[in-house]
Amino acid sequence: MQGQLAHACGVFGVYAPGRPVAHLTYLGLYALQHRGQESAGIAVSDGNTITVVKDMGLVTQVFDERRLAPLDGHLAIGHNRYSTTGSSTWRNAQPVYRSVGDAGFALGHNGNLTNVSELAEHIGMLPGMLGGEDIDSTTDSALVAELIAHEYPAETRSDGRDLEIALKRVLPRLAGGFSFVLMDEAHLIGVRDRHGFWPLVLGRLDTGWVLASETAALDIVDAHFVREIEPGELIVIDASGLSPPTYFAEPDPKLCLFEFVYFARPDTNLYGHNVHAARQRMGEELARQSPVAADMVMPIPESGIPAAQGYARASGIPYGDGLVKNRYVGRTFIQPEQKQRGADVRLKLNPLPDNIRGKRLVVVDDSIVRGTTTRQVVAMLREAGAAEVHFRVSSPPYRWPCYYGMDTGRRSELLAADMTVGEIANYLNVDSLAYLELDRLTHATGAPATSFCTACLSGRYPVPVPELQGDAKLVLEEARPLLQSADTPLPVREPGASA
Ligand code: SF4
Repeated sequence: MQGQLAHACGVFGVYAPGRPVAHLTYLGLYALQHRGQESAGIAVSDGNTITVVKDMGLVTQVFDERRLAPLDGHLAIGHNRYSTTGSSTWRNAQPVYRSVGDAGFALGHNGNLTNVSELAEHIGMLPGMLGGEDIDSTTDSALVAELIAHEYPAETRSDGRDLEIALKRVLPRLAGGFSFVLMDEAHLIGVRDRHGFWPLVLGRLDTGWVLASETAALDIVDAHFVREIEPGELIVIDASGLSPPTYFAEPDPKLCLFEFVYFARPDTNLYGHNVHAARQRMGEELARQSPVAADMVMPIPESGIPAAQGYARASGIPYGDGLVKNRYVGRTFIQPEQKQRGADVRLKLNPLPDNIRGKRLVVVDDSIVRGTTTRQVVAMLREAGAAEVHFRVSSPPYRWPCYYGMDTGRRSELLAADMTVGEIANYLNVDSLAYLELDRLTHATGAPATSFCTACLSGRYPVPVPELQGDAKLVLEEARPLLQSADTPLPVREPGASA
């Protein structure tokens, strides 16, 4: 898929006295850049004060040595953002900072909550907390920060665990997808929702601890992988080390299957399985499931490369390149608007006519979401002289929107929402089209099929989702007047119902 899905965010946290924690966080965010490219931010504590630096742009655009050097401390969190709730504006960049009395805390969120209206309405009923501008951001993450602040103990605790106490009061109320990193002046906290929709791992430095969305971010700071944070788990790291694990909810693992298909870096491991190898196995499964006589297997670069390698290996058809990707154009999905998304396909991919001309091609990609890019790519291949184009997709048709932290837009924008595979083949103008079946896909991951969310492919939503009218990203902005008038919450759609 070429830039049709946008991930919510990447998060990183480090507790390492004596180490340059802001620089380590910068490296971690750099490794997680693919998870969010609209804004980047770092919060650092020196034990007394939390300093937050955040801005719109890529990690390397937001931070340079001049901005990192003053961020002195022993504890930091960082965040890369793609907007799934709230507009793409500076005020929605993270980490979110919230002062509470003389203290404060910062929060970074990967995911999307499904009960924001209910939560916001709750805050709206709290005197003085929602006066229109009191919450200076429209993200569900800012809403969580407000809820936490409200639950802070009235008296500062002698053990300093105020944030942890407040968090434990709030977490059971949250529904949807959330992997949080939080910090106050002295503690680093990691949290994963009870389904563990989004990954969060724990790593060990020689003199400290790291939390990160993906294992690849541990590698870049020389941290050793310790374990995944479990669904429903909260961990606290402070001067006394790592606290014993505590659970705020019954775990029911439902990792996003698209982490394996597309989101996660190939060098990341999920459920103990390497993502790149799993993607190659998906291609092998696809070749066994949907063979075709052809002269060359080629990927849509770069998303289709490992599955195309697997398809070629299993089919015996030679692997080759038919498209060149401009390395200097970012993933299309960094642009939040559809208009911008379609415009830069030609800038990004260019055919290799000498490799394509007269050949029957098997073209492999990991998914098709909106289909506009795929259609243009097929047209490019035909113009370059392809004799036949057989499209193979290493995941099932993407038919339902994600409400847990990935931006697909509305259901009406999804190509497969109301079309059969035959109709899609006609739309794309391909000679044949096949999608990998869901059970073959989960088998290829190496993890149990029951441990995944497959809602966008199956329509089975592990958590009830709001029946949102309009753009799901802007629910809080739309909800603001609703809250102020104490109107009714948005209706809830049951799992399995289509949007
Ligand atoms: S709906 Fe799809 S993209 Fe969203 S969490 Fe589930 S599998 Fe992932």
